[in-house]
Amino acid sequence: MTQPPRSHGRKTLRPSVKPRALMEENPHIVGAWQAQVITLFPEVFPGVLGESLTGKALKDGLWHLDTIGLRDYGMGKHRNVDDTPAGGGAGMVIRADVLEQAIMAAKERAAAPQPIFYLSPRGVPFNQKIAQHWASEPGVTLLCGRFEGVDQRVLDHFRIIEVSLGDFVLTGGEIAAQAMLDATVRLLPGVLGNAESAVEESHSSGLLEHPQYTRPAEWQGHAIPEVLMSGHHARIADWRRAQSEALTKQRRPDMWAAYHKRD
Ligand code: SAH
Repeated sequence: MTQPPRSHGRKTLRPSVKPRALMEENPHIVGAWQAQVITLFPEVFPGVLGESLTGKALKDGLWHLDTIGLRDYGMGKHRNVDDTPAGGGAGMVIRADVLEQAIMAAKERAAAPQPIFYLSPRGVPFNQKIAQHWASEPGVTLLCGRFEGVDQRVLDHFRIIEVSLGDFVLTGGEIAAQAMLDATVRLLPGVLGNAESAVEESHSSGLLEHPQYTRPAEWQGHAIPEVLMSGHHARIADWRRAQSEALTKQRRPDMWAAYHKRD
């Protein structure tokens, strides 16, 4: 028997199954951002997303996380999801027919139509811009591969876009999915305590962030830069900006060039 998809945080509430009065009482729950993850390992979710700010937001219903276990759609007694690669070679490939059923289940379960992405080292490199774009959608469905990956026909048929966490090869897509969801969820309204903090950080402003310090004022003979202790807000802002620019110029000439082109 197929298990129902697992839900994390508050249950997804759909207008069709939900009394009107409750909808009105909790309007933020109905329209909440929804992540769906298709994976062979649903038990690793919410994982790190269940902690700290993203975890609190999940509990508060600011976003939903649903997992769709690929094994539930496996073939035969052993619920096989993979088979040997056509044309030969090492490893196994996740079957198109198994994936199709999981994807259809995700589509059915989505509160609003949402794009599907496949976590893949061949994909476009994930970045802050993509996180911002995802945050502006009603939600996203992420497909985590394992083994040698998934049957290409499924990617073509459903027009699934591939996204990469970076130029390295992971054993599966789950860590990449959690990383990308973390970056996205913290951009949703109300998730970060101080709305300013998402605007000024590295990769949002086009510059890397300035160094940060906190108490004690002196540690191992090192003092906090004097200007930060001055209480002079304009001077502090100037100092931070100069530090940001110097760091970006030194560490990320590519970002520095793009930053100047923008002006
Ligand atoms: N044979 C594939 C790699 C498969 S790795 C290739 O050479 O391209 C197994 C799974 O891990 C992939 O299906 C993918 O979902 C995930 N994965 C591996 N590296 C990743 C990365 N850099 N970003 C996102 N997902 C990745």
